[in-house]
Amino acid sequence: MWRLLIVFVVACAEPIGAAREVDVSSPDSDVSAPEVDATDSDATEHDSDATEHDVDATDSDATEPDLAHDGDVEVDTPDCVSDPTGPTCPTRCVRGRLLREARRPNAEATALLDLAVVPVVDLEVTAVTSASATRWAATDTEGDFEICGLAADAPLTLRVTCEVRDRDAGGDPDRVLLAVVDGQEVDVPQRRGVRIVAQRLWSWSLSVGPASDEIGTWLIREGDGAGALAILAEARAVIARAATLFAGRAITPPTLGIVWSPARTPSCLSCYLPAAWGPLVLQGAPGAADLAFDRALFLSGAPSAPHHWTPSLVAHELGHFAMDTWSVLPDLGGPHGWDARVDPALAWSEGFATFFAQRALSTLQLPMPRFFSIQSNIPYWVDLDAIARDPRTDDTSLSLTIPLPSPSGGLTQPLGEGAVAALLWGLGSGVDPGRPDAVVVAVASLRVRTLDRGAPGPDLVDFLDALVCAYPDLDQDSLSPALIGFPYDFAPLCP
Ligand SMILES: [Zn+2]
Repeated sequence: MWRLLIVFVVACAEPIGAAREVDVSSPDSDVSAPEVDATDSDATEHDSDATEHDVDATDSDATEPDLAHDGDVEVDTPDCVSDPTGPTCPTRCVRGRLLREARRPNAEATALLDLAVVPVVDLEVTAVTSASATRWAATDTEGDFEICGLAADAPLTLRVTCEVRDRDAGGDPDRVLLAVVDGQEVDVPQRRGVRIVAQRLWSWSLSVGPASDEIGTWLIREGDGAGALAILAEARAVIARAATLFAGRAITPPTLGIVWSPARTPSCLSCYLPAAWGPLVLQGAPGAADLAFDRALFLSGAPSAPHHWTPSLVAHELGHFAMDTWSVLPDLGGPHGWDARVDPALAWSEGFATFFAQRALSTLQLPMPRFFSIQSNIPYWVDLDAIARDPRTDDTSLSLTIPLPSPSGGLTQPLGEGAVAALLWGLGSGVDPGRPDAVVVAVASLRVRTLDRGAPGPDLVDFLDALVCAYPDLDQDSLSPALIGFPYDFAPLCP
């Protein structure tokens, strides 16, 4: 029987170029499975509705930088031109519906469903004309958009970029808060690890003829890189939720670049890179400035590990981002898996990220106590709720054995990340339903961030200390059922 050691996430503290590929002892594993060449995508085959309206769907040309951060987007009133007969203003509007192909796990979180078509929601569509100013509009919940104020009888290009800009009142619209980029790792020996160089923002273009105001449906297909749009939509929602959850710490999230490509597999498969690794740098076109992100994470787009279609994995990596932003991230990383006991600080980091992911997905209307992903062509799932309710039960995972804490193992015993995730799930959903934010409060607390007990670095002991410090009425009777065997001593070190 095969044994699966899931190394799906690494909050790295070692050179990314080092040998820490997925450690899968399955005989049919293959992390270097056939890759999709982005340049072979059928980017020219946009929806036929569009072509009926005299639209020339152009190749999005995945090989060339399409740096859509030039800050030339304007939303003011149309520019009017005066002539002897009085002012004339551009009045043309272009309308369409932006859709994308997508795959999602089934309701049981055991397998991926077939390809579906869904709207691209709240994304900017920019109309680029020969005039100096461009105009944009955001898609609505159906994917519909209308861009007005365009010069009549002139060809234009519609462009969609996989990014979220700072459009808040008082914000800087040139600032890209979040983006999905296509790039690769480049070794820079003088720095701690590597310089992560992204080559381009994922973007798509569509040429529109001068007489076409209704372009119909514009479909971004899986082969065009629609996975990038799925990642952006989920990351945007999860980060917004985290900012609300951790509102007690008024911190503006760092900007984040998510590196993803169906044509390249990151050496870590999927991982979050902490601040110490330096920014993600998106190289500008010749003569243009680079674009840097404060933080970076990698997601596999390989056919054998299509993490863009597994929301659990995306949200897990964002759990590391959340911990790094609002709490404190242990300064260690490396290979780890569901079926292994690891350093308590690493188990804390990974377990929290998985708990965060499943809670976030549940909040976003996807009832998912089950972590689900695919690695080496093997779908797998782990049911946190089942482990939290009865850690000795069977049927909580697919062919995985989740190591549990040893009641006699002490506070600093190596732990399984699945046990930590299930313990947090139980605390957050079952033991104390009247305090839904208790886990969040403790995770982001001054106690966790500044004091250390148990194993070196932030770990489960520090979290439980913070919980008991914040809620002194939580005692052995109320907490013990959720500890699934972990021998917490109820002797917290409080600030
Ligand atoms: Zn992780």
